[in-house]
Amino acid sequence: MKQLCPCGSGESYQDCCNRIHENPKAAASAEQLMRARYTAFCLQHIDFLYDTFHPQTRRYQQKAAIAAWAKENQWQELQIIQASVSRVEFKAYYIDRSGDLHVHHEKSAFKQLNSQWYYVDGEIKG
Ligand SMILES: [Zn+2]
Repeated sequence: MKQLCPCGSGESYQDCCNRIHENPKAAASAEQLMRARYTAFCLQHIDFLYDTFHPQTRRYQQKAAIAAWAKENQWQELQIIQASVSRVEFKAYYIDRSGDLHVHHEKSAFKQLNSQWYYVDGEIKG
């Protein structure tokens, strides 16, 4: 049996976020890119996370910080609350190093550049 995609789509990883990890332009919408970024946290594809920051905000990012955030938590589940063309509100559940369950609730902004979707930034909710 194929491994189900961590983003919760019900598809296999091969047919879902893997296509986008191999080619970010394969993300047909902001939501697809968001799902692929969540899965990249689960699988620790740090380069993908870094490279899909919009150039406008990428300069403030550090791969080591992204890697630490991805590795020190165990990513449990993604819930998409709502998605529009360029915004996605989601909840990502994770267990931290102390074993406590947390929810990261964010409304993210995305922009297209040269027909590729990028993550710009997010507003933390709740
Ligand atoms: Zn997926």
